[in-house]
Amino acid sequence: MWIFSSCQVANQPDQSYQETVQVNDTLPLESVIATERPIWEGIYRAEETKLFALIHTKLEVSFDWEKKYLHGMATLELSPYFYPQSKLILDAKGFDIHGVSLLSGEQKQPLQYEYDGMELEIMLEREYTRDEKLLVEIAYTAKPYERETGGSRAITSDRGLYFINADGSDPAKPQQIWTQGEPESNSGWFPTIDAPNQRTTQEMYITVDEKFTTLSNGDLIYSQLNEDGTKTDYWKMDKPHAPYLFMMAIGEYAVVKDSWEGIEVSYYVEPAYEQYAKDVFGHTPEMLSFFSKKLDYKYPWSKYSQVIVRDFVSGAMENTTASVFMEAVQVTDRELLDKHWDGIIAHELIHHWFGNLVTCESWSNIPLNEAFANYSEYLWTEHKYGIDEADYEALIELEDYLEEAKTKQVDLIRFYYENKEDMFDNHSYAKGGRILHMLRKYVGDDAFFASLAYYLKTNEYSDVEVHNLRLAFEKVTGEDMNWFFNQWFLASGHPQLTVSHQYENGNLTLTVNQIQDLSTTPLYRLPLYIDVYYGDKKERFAINIEKAHEEFEFDIPHAPSLVVFDAEKQLLGEIHYEKDLETLAFQYRNTEKFLSRYEAITRLADHIQNHVALEVLTEALSDPFWGIRQEAIAALDGYDGEGHEAIVARLAEMSTRDPKSLVRADALATLATYEADRFINQFERGLEDASYAVVGAGIYGYAQTAATDKEERFAKYAKINNANVTIPLADYYVTNSIEGKSDWFVEKIKASRRADLYYLLQYFGQYLMQAPEPVRKEGVKLLDEYATTNDTFYVRLAAFQGLLLLEETEGVQEIIERLKRDEQDERLKELYSNF
Ligand SMILES: [Zn+2]
Repeated sequence: MWIFSSCQVANQPDQSYQETVQVNDTLPLESVIATERPIWEGIYRAEETKLFALIHTKLEVSFDWEKKYLHGMATLELSPYFYPQSKLILDAKGFDIHGVSLLSGEQKQPLQYEYDGMELEIMLEREYTRDEKLLVEIAYTAKPYERETGGSRAITSDRGLYFINADGSDPAKPQQIWTQGEPESNSGWFPTIDAPNQRTTQEMYITVDEKFTTLSNGDLIYSQLNEDGTKTDYWKMDKPHAPYLFMMAIGEYAVVKDSWEGIEVSYYVEPAYEQYAKDVFGHTPEMLSFFSKKLDYKYPWSKYSQVIVRDFVSGAMENTTASVFMEAVQVTDRELLDKHWDGIIAHELIHHWFGNLVTCESWSNIPLNEAFANYSEYLWTEHKYGIDEADYEALIELEDYLEEAKTKQVDLIRFYYENKEDMFDNHSYAKGGRILHMLRKYVGDDAFFASLAYYLKTNEYSDVEVHNLRLAFEKVTGEDMNWFFNQWFLASGHPQLTVSHQYENGNLTLTVNQIQDLSTTPLYRLPLYIDVYYGDKKERFAINIEKAHEEFEFDIPHAPSLVVFDAEKQLLGEIHYEKDLETLAFQYRNTEKFLSRYEAITRLADHIQNHVALEVLTEALSDPFWGIRQEAIAALDGYDGEGHEAIVARLAEMSTRDPKSLVRADALATLATYEADRFINQFERGLEDASYAVVGAGIYGYAQTAATDKEERFAKYAKINNANVTIPLADYYVTNSIEGKSDWFVEKIKASRRADLYYLLQYFGQYLMQAPEPVRKEGVKLLDEYATTNDTFYVRLAAFQGLLLLEETEGVQEIIERLKRDEQDERLKELYSNF
């Protein structure tokens, strides 16, 4: 599963001029998301005991859209796992059970059962041994909207089965049905043993109205028209997988077909996006080749489909052969100029090895799925877009983890947790991915991928715990790996180091202190490299840090101009190493690793008035990597000291010529903070750019000028549904009190994606403050609707904040009081209590 990390949510949409708008000031989103409950200490979260083994699951389902029910017939084939059994307990959440029978040949024998709304306890007519199989049939109705459900940050709801626009009343939304199983929600729509250490083959008979396309795991064997205008699609999957990976998606889809080595690769998108499906997902066949080769294990499943669904409860989900993606991934070719979705696509794909082929035995071991999925994004980016791009993404992962670590430090593999959803955090993902990177750096590429291949082969179609991974690395490398796994996988925290060096008479002394709290965090063993630059030479040394205080000595003929600690920039941790500005300038100009250059730039950015820093930052505007150019622009934003004319001229050039759209956008937005009228030509060119990010920056910049044709010029952008454009337009309408835009806000809000709504709803609140009363009252209704019913907590929060601005309006006080009273989300309850 792919989740939003705190940074990803907070930064969307990522435009530099976001920082200049005022709407976020009431409540910073970061503080909302960082709120974590204390670590739960209670029951040891063991692997689920296997009393039975699932063998095969056959489901026949149809739907009542009006009631949001699923009518189902489940036939389960099982066998006692080891010990004889006379009772079978299945997970079945919120069902009506119509009957349970034992099938044998043509015979159907009713069985006694008890049902408490969560578990179905079936009394078998006799005891069964592990050499026997039994076939149980359950007739049921699943009522996912009539049971108590929960949710979390990563997965906003746990219904299992979702109806979208079920009554068809929303013209802006297609009608869809889809499912989300992980961690244990699939038992909300079929009876099963809902644990990741079970594995079953699968058949699905899905009956729907003829107009709908269905998707499920495995292959579509046939689609048969029924006399009542419905059709039944028969999907079959021959290879066993865990129950949480079962899926269905139903809707009016365009199916775009691709292929890889003779198997179907397909993309299910809404018809309006059919022409862009290959732009978005088109790297999938190349990724299938890349991962099959890297892992020395060919993609093992019979097809690979990817489907977009509306209002998804998470980012994406790796259901075997049929991954589900949130609608934000469904974009046009123009939108792809600013942001592609390869990372999330690679993430769900590699789960088909790490997660679906080899499955964590319990949620305590979820990093065995998610750390690999997270790291696949690095591997793919490194392969496809180069090492700088990959290292930049790795830096964001590190920052995500360190941000979470401020309020939560837990073992990566943890057997004590409050909710299983808590496992889907920046530890399991971001920290896990970075740990795998360190493991790769330690054993080397050959050993790393050989170990993964061995791990996959020895554990294929079964469930694992972290020691299986360690044993695979030990088997391949011949080295005991307990030290690595103990400190990184089985402990909490991270190294905090102070580093310094001294040089005297040909002798360099490097001093390293581990200053992390050793009562909660290990004393680490850290095999790293240092690079020493002296004269015109660079020399690399290996060091092995093991103690709290260490000194390493090196013979160096001249005083070094730079010592780079952790030369491979692999370490997950915090390093404090004092460097003067000249040294940082040398570091930027002479080192190759992205992180090393980036560190120099970001540290020099604090000294912009110093000529050494200014010179380097100006140089960095021409860095070969766009991420560095962006940082340099951010550092120089607003600089009006000596030499600023040359910088501004360079920014003006970058705003039209830089090959990366996000850099052009940032350059434009920065120009807008100077005398905007001087750069009116740049803004006009920005308005014509292919990239929406640049168009948006053009709108923002042009809006700051004294031009008198702004409204006419901006009119043609009002139709565009992309936050890069809608947010600066909203800003313009609010700032300049442009009348008659309420309908535009309503339309954009209805067409907006989750993260974008966070900003748009607040702008709407601001806009309504100046609107005539009848308009304001209508607007309040819409804000109330979003604040009350939206599935995503920060969208509800944004609508609530919009309402706060309108407190003076009749009836709004009552709405706010009601929202405060009725909100169930702990994070919001805490925030709302401040008002
Ligand atoms: Zn995942």
